[in-house]
Amino acid sequence: MSLAEKLAQERRARLAAERLLELKQAELTDANRKLGRHALALTRRIGATQAEIATFRHENERVKSDLNTANEKVEQAERRLWHSIQAFQDGFAFFDSNSKLIGANTAYLNIFEGVEEVSPGVSYVRILQILTDEGLIDTEELSADAWRAMMTERWMSPAPEATVVRLWNDRYVKLIDQRGFDGDIVSLALDITATVHYEEELRTARERAEAANRAKSAFLANMSHEIRTPMNGVVGMAELLNDTPLTEEQRLYAGTIKNSGEALLVIINDVLDYSKIEAEKLVLNPEPFDLEACMHEVIMLLQANARDKGLTLLVDYDLFMPTNFVGDPGRIRQILTNLIGNAVKFTNHGHVTARVTGVPHPEDNTVMLHISIEDTGIGIPKEKINHIFGEFNQVEDATNREFEGTGLGLAITERLIKMMDGEIWVESDFGVGSCFGFRLPLVVADGSKVNAPDMPQNLHHVMIVDDMQINREILNRQLQRLGLQVTPVSSGAEALEKMSKDIDLVVTDRNLPGMDGVKLARSLRHDWQDVPVLLLTSDPADIRDLSIQDIFAGVLQKPLPRGALFTALSSLDTPKLPSPPRCPSLGDMDDVTPEVSSETSSEPSSECADSAHPDGADLPRMRVMAAEDNRTNQLVFRKMVKDLNIDLQFANNGQEAVDLYQSFAPDLIFMDISMPKMDGKEATQVIRELEKTSSSRVQIVALTAHAMDGDSEGILAAGLDDYLTKPLRKGLIHERIMNNVPSGVAPLITERKNGDLRATA
Ligand code: ADP
Repeated sequence: MSLAEKLAQERRARLAAERLLELKQAELTDANRKLGRHALALTRRIGATQAEIATFRHENERVKSDLNTANEKVEQAERRLWHSIQAFQDGFAFFDSNSKLIGANTAYLNIFEGVEEVSPGVSYVRILQILTDEGLIDTEELSADAWRAMMTERWMSPAPEATVVRLWNDRYVKLIDQRGFDGDIVSLALDITATVHYEEELRTARERAEAANRAKSAFLANMSHEIRTPMNGVVGMAELLNDTPLTEEQRLYAGTIKNSGEALLVIINDVLDYSKIEAEKLVLNPEPFDLEACMHEVIMLLQANARDKGLTLLVDYDLFMPTNFVGDPGRIRQILTNLIGNAVKFTNHGHVTARVTGVPHPEDNTVMLHISIEDTGIGIPKEKINHIFGEFNQVEDATNREFEGTGLGLAITERLIKMMDGEIWVESDFGVGSCFGFRLPLVVADGSKVNAPDMPQNLHHVMIVDDMQINREILNRQLQRLGLQVTPVSSGAEALEKMSKDIDLVVTDRNLPGMDGVKLARSLRHDWQDVPVLLLTSDPADIRDLSIQDIFAGVLQKPLPRGALFTALSSLDTPKLPSPPRCPSLGDMDDVTPEVSSETSSEPSSECADSAHPDGADLPRMRVMAAEDNRTNQLVFRKMVKDLNIDLQFANNGQEAVDLYQSFAPDLIFMDISMPKMDGKEATQVIRELEKTSSSRVQIVALTAHAMDGDSEGILAAGLDDYLTKPLRKGLIHERIMNNVPSGVAPLITERKNGDLRATA
């Protein structure tokens, strides 16, 4: 190779190298530029991250310090809670789900008297063991093993019941265990020693009070019994005395002794019965008896009272119900007498109906009797309904105050019925009427089946004539149940109008408006000669009245016992009965009814008018008014002042007192406090009101029944000036009169002998 060639080659190589170098340098510069840019971006990013880190660090520190305070707070709360738990008087502990103690307060641990083993970690079962082993618990009648078994079982139950344990030192602890979250148990041990002791005290106090109450009742029962015996003597002797030759005046005195004695006996008998029941001394004497007859006997005894008031007494005894039961007839009669007696007492118009139905229980041969007594009387206000069964409780309002009574009747009745496993209730509409009902389970006595009577062949259709709807209803139902067709009518005229040849028998009431039962029977005799007529009457005289007997096939006394009805119906096939069927043994009972005495008349009339006075005959006498509702007290009062020359007039109640005050213008008033219609305090207030228009003021002396209701403030506040308590004393009454003699009246006493007050007449 030539040199030139070599040089040229070398130049080319150098040029190529130079170009490559240039290329590489350009690449390098480019790479450098890129690197520079990247580095810049990186630096920027690092800066941002560093700022973020700073913020985070700051935040972190704040959170950390917050957390610390929060922790402190939680710890503080925990400490407080624990202090509180520690401060409990009662024990508090908690156990984990394995029944290991987690913690307990001092009160809880104190139960264990310092046994160190009772600390966190000990098991409940072990605790029970310690309690018995150390004698810390009084397991009473249980053995230690049995007690622990019982307590363990309780602990394991899903919701342990609270229980009371007794500690060795006679303290009582109530354990309340509550299963909670995750099977933990919170256990409370409450010290109830004080409560237990208090309950014990209460129990003994109650037992003592009950014993005292029984003793008091027994005392009352004995007392009333003791009083009753001589009282009966008084009544009996007074009656005997009445049969001897007496002057009119003596007869009046003896009669008053007898009536007062009888009234007292009723009260004493009530008190005796009531206190016997209270003292648990009353025993029932069950024996077979006839309930229907018992009911009719009670009704017959009340019949005279009812008739006087114009009331109808009805008995609706379920036609096919047995009548012989085993029970205490005396006590059942007492219940019926009280309920029917009350119904008659508190009814002034209408009727009293006793209904007897029953649900038989053949499996034990009993009947659940359902007896109700309905009346159309004054009724009982709703708010008093529950009150009346209480002892000595009466409805005290204007409609009621004029009725006498002790308020013990219903209290006794209710207790008697309860003693017989029965139940009493009452429904009443004030002003409309009352219905007292009671249920009584009674065993049916042998031979008590009721057989329907053998009816006469030709008896199919009966006409009932009665103006009282309830009476028609009862008879209608009874006859229908005997398979008869019934046409009920309400008057004689309607009977004659509806009479037809289908009718085989007429049953008529005696008292009918317009044409009465006797007149109806006479009319029927014209056209319907062959149809027998039965007469129902509540007047026993009709049964003995021969003049009406031949027009009737029978004269029957109301209320009609079923037997009497059956007999009357079954004897009908003889067209005329030789002697009318009577209701057995009841026809004459009416004579037994005690008559209410009316001897002590009480017209407000001038009493001493008969004692014409020689001295000062031209002067008017001092006028004295006594307001007193009780006749006997009036008589006593009158006799006590009979030696004084005064003009005495009586008022029978507060209203009369006000009236008499105006017409009589008394110089002095004696005022009984408890009187019907208007009491003494009210009457005095009215009189004081009336006096405001005049210039004078009359002295009013209260008479109170017993020291207890003589609350002097109440009486004086009502405008009375003075009061005397009963029993009345002659000397005190005279003194009051003497102190109030007005001027210008005739002298009260004209002569004095041996210091005695004597009337000159
Ligand atoms: P008593 O008849 O001696 O007052 P009770 O205990 O028999 O005592 O009756 C208590 C009260 O219940 C009566 O005073 C009366 O107010 C009320 N009472 C009882 N029966 C009736 C009745 N059939 N109608 C209205 N009130 C009645």
